Amino acid sequence: MDSGDSPPHDPAEPAELPPMQCDACEGALQSPERDMLSFLLVDQLTAPIIGCDDHRQQFASICGYTTDATADLLDHRPAGGVRCPSCGLAAHTPHQPLVPVAGGAVAILVCPEHQSELINRFRTGLDTHHQLTTQLDTAGPHDVL
Ligand SMILES: [Zn+2]
Ligand SMILES: [Zn+2]
Repeated sequence: MDSGDSPPHDPAEPAELPPMQCDACEGALQSPERDMLSFLLVDQLTAPIIGCDDHRQQFASICGYTTDATADLLDHRPAGGVRCPSCGLAAHTPHQPLVPVAGGAVAILVCPEHQSELINRFRTGLDTHHQLTTQLDTAGPHDVL
């Protein structure tokens, strides 16, 4: 082992990202271009989220369990933009808390108020999803996937 040759670490960047198994999410979160940005539309809320395609989709579909309408994921800024002014400001905050999503993690660029709303939705959606999955499991074994 060559102890003199440590891996490069940016001292300006605190190691606050939790370990995650998804390289694509990690790459998206660390990309300064933010080209992995999508807009989640659920009910009246427009939330910019960052993560890889898979995990953004998962986050959106889980949140979709909590609404009678659908949770849409757009690859571009929606016509109305982000409705909440505080959320608009939050998009420029460099460090956002991450929401773990099945092996990856997404960042939601919204104000604290809407962040807790979305995280609540996500948790509720996960419960619903879990119940549905359990029901499917008890209905009979299937190895399709
Ligand atoms: Zn991912
Ligand atoms: Zn907001």
